[in-house]
Amino acid sequence: MTTLYEEVRATLRESEFRPRKRLGQNFLVHENIIESILRLLDLSPEDEIVEIGPGLGFLTRRLVDTAKRVWAVEIDSALVDRLKRSSLGSHPAFQLMHNDILKVAPEDFLPPHKVKLVGNLPYSISTPVLFRLFDWREHFSFLVLMMQKEVADRIGSGPGTKAYGTLSVWCQVHGRISERVSVSPEAFFPKPKVRSTILKINLYQEPLIPLKDLPLLRGLVRAAFGHRRKTLGNALTSWLQRDRNEIESVLRLEGIDPVRRGETLSVAEFLALSRALKESHCG
Ligand code: SAM
Repeated sequence: MTTLYEEVRATLRESEFRPRKRLGQNFLVHENIIESILRLLDLSPEDEIVEIGPGLGFLTRRLVDTAKRVWAVEIDSALVDRLKRSSLGSHPAFQLMHNDILKVAPEDFLPPHKVKLVGNLPYSISTPVLFRLFDWREHFSFLVLMMQKEVADRIGSGPGTKAYGTLSVWCQVHGRISERVSVSPEAFFPKPKVRSTILKINLYQEPLIPLKDLPLLRGLVRAAFGHRRKTLGNALTSWLQRDRNEIESVLRLEGIDPVRRGETLSVAEFLALSRALKESHCG
């Protein structure tokens, strides 16, 4: 029986396709990782799915086997041509979009109800893609995403760790990691230099703060992590351009010492501080 590795290598040879590093083209060659992704997706025939970067389509063909509809967004025109010519091209469940996931507008292709999202993300764009997906959160029930291990660690980390940052807070405000699978470089061709992690992120019905207050929270988190060496008192005073005493009294009222650094605040403290800044008309 042909292995997935042999199939990927033969497909690349036959189509004379050379994977492009710039587009993060590391194709999955271990069947058991595809099985892990399918387990996390928990597919049913009613499911509609968005896939970021179908590549050669070997995960995609498994998705269309079960799901009602799969929208696949692929940036590379050579891969788009190949997918169209493959058996997927005529599959009734398969909808291919030749586009950049960082540019496409969700309303151009997503239905009004929630869908599942899957992607083996190109490493160089995983962080901006994640922020984009959180902006589109009302379209998704959950995300199953493969990314560089370091990015996955940042998402799940808390105060007092080096990995804790804007991405950690933003993810934890929008959802919760429910599963994590570790993936070695051997699972890809070509082999990347880094380890990868698949995360399943369940999105909350609503973020932990009202939608209209998200921009203020975003500004606060950016200011707090933007200058890691600054105290919170300093970072917030220069961000908001307000009187230092005013800022320090809001911090003290929330029980936060103004000499603390942003990276020591928990997500709950960020939420409380954002509310307090709004109520005191500082933010
Ligand atoms: N899903 C395939 C797999 O698991 O073997 C391929 C995954 S490969 C890591 C990433 C895929 O995303 C490639 O097919 C690449 O061309 C595509 N891609 C890269 N940047 C993209 C972008 N901005 N928008 C959409 N697709 C992109």
